Amino acid sequence: MNETAIRHLKPAAAPEQFDYKQLKQGEFWRHIPAYKDVDEATFLDHLWQQKNAVKTADELLATIKDVCTPEFYADAKAGFGRAPMAVRVSPYAISLIDWNDPIDDPIRRQFVPLGSTLLPDHPRLTLDSLHEQDDSPVPGLVHRYVDKALFLPLNTCPVYCRFCTRSYAIGPDTENVDKVSLAKTPKQWQDAFAYISERPELEDIVISGGDVYQLPPKNIELIGNALLDIPHVRRMRFATKGPAIMPMKILTHDEWLDAISKVVERGRTLGKEVVLHFNAPEEITWITEKAMRRLFERGIFVRNQSVLIRGVNDSRRRMQLLVKRLGHVNVHPYYVYMHDMVKGVEELRTTIWTATDTEKFVRGSTAGFNTPTFVCDAPGGGGKRDVHSYEYYDRENGIAVYAAPSVKPGKAFVYFDPIDKLSPDAQARWAVREIQDQMIREAVRKAGVGDEQLVLA
Ligand code: SF4
Repeated sequence: MNETAIRHLKPAAAPEQFDYKQLKQGEFWRHIPAYKDVDEATFLDHLWQQKNAVKTADELLATIKDVCTPEFYADAKAGFGRAPMAVRVSPYAISLIDWNDPIDDPIRRQFVPLGSTLLPDHPRLTLDSLHEQDDSPVPGLVHRYVDKALFLPLNTCPVYCRFCTRSYAIGPDTENVDKVSLAKTPKQWQDAFAYISERPELEDIVISGGDVYQLPPKNIELIGNALLDIPHVRRMRFATKGPAIMPMKILTHDEWLDAISKVVERGRTLGKEVVLHFNAPEEITWITEKAMRRLFERGIFVRNQSVLIRGVNDSRRRMQLLVKRLGHVNVHPYYVYMHDMVKGVEELRTTIWTATDTEKFVRGSTAGFNTPTFVCDAPGGGGKRDVHSYEYYDRENGIAVYAAPSVKPGKAFVYFDPIDKLSPDAQARWAVREIQDQMIREAVRKAGVGDEQLVLA
């Protein structure tokens, strides 16, 4: 036995540093009145989850019953009526909301709109803030980066996220938004396949939507094989929010998982990946862990893209917890996005400064390959920029200017912090259109990009 005493140079880790391993256990859904008699087999059934998703304020009330107050119900009813996205929340997500404090709950904030918390949109916001339609050569395909395209074969999702970038097209029409039509049938997809075939520079295809969770197994295989058959396509990624809000599908919809597995196996030498969106540490439970283990055992690599959302994960501690918990369940934390400038959800956005501060804290708290890159998807179609890489940031007035030399050379792309997070003086400046223009032009001038090339959201 080695008799040399071990020297611990660092103090022992505090107990809370292991919180990421504490996943919700047991039948946590039974405290919801509508689910009190639901057994584990039923709750894990993906068809039961789909069928019982909450879509209206009345369905929400029927589900949580007297757990919420009449005031909360009235607030939700007002929020449902004003939201640009349709509402659809899985029983899994409903069960994870703390109904004793629903206003501040991170899952509620993502999926259930409330009239009382809505803020006016930023004056420079547009519905399709990333200008995806400008980069769309055929319906349902976005070709922005040189070697990568985004294929959107459907417009439905197992839940509808309030923060969705694609609220211009996803889900049914709402009182506020008539949705743009995407190509949704195998026949319509042929134009996208033909376009990809004709562009040898396209090596990386992201299949999103909508959410590939909603694609029937036969269409997963159809799309996967069509893309595998194009010789220059080297990588494809299936994007879904599903495992975060309905992980049981991976455990109980064998045909769907088999279809993904077949595509992955056929293309293994090309490196296929699945991309997910987890935003709150509470979304990861024992069910998620089991589902991710099943993917891992099949050799399916899972990457996560989070959105930085106010009141959900915009603090150092919560983002660190999310990142560590993702690593714990074999999910690679890949990106954290600035919340896009999306209509009707201003209270969910936060500042560039918050992102850079959070990133500095997270970096160094776990392995580098498990540390996400914080990015701003530049409004106007500049693509994803490292959030720290702004050419100029006017923190007082909340204006960050980015350049994207490999995507759209010579142009300036501007991201705006939410106005309610600025000082009262800055808020007053934003109230006057002429001053807005001056502030933006001044920021672009200081960025050294030039007024005439300015692209605004
Ligand atoms: S799952 Fe994706 S596409 Fe669907 S609403 Fe959420 S963010 Fe939008």
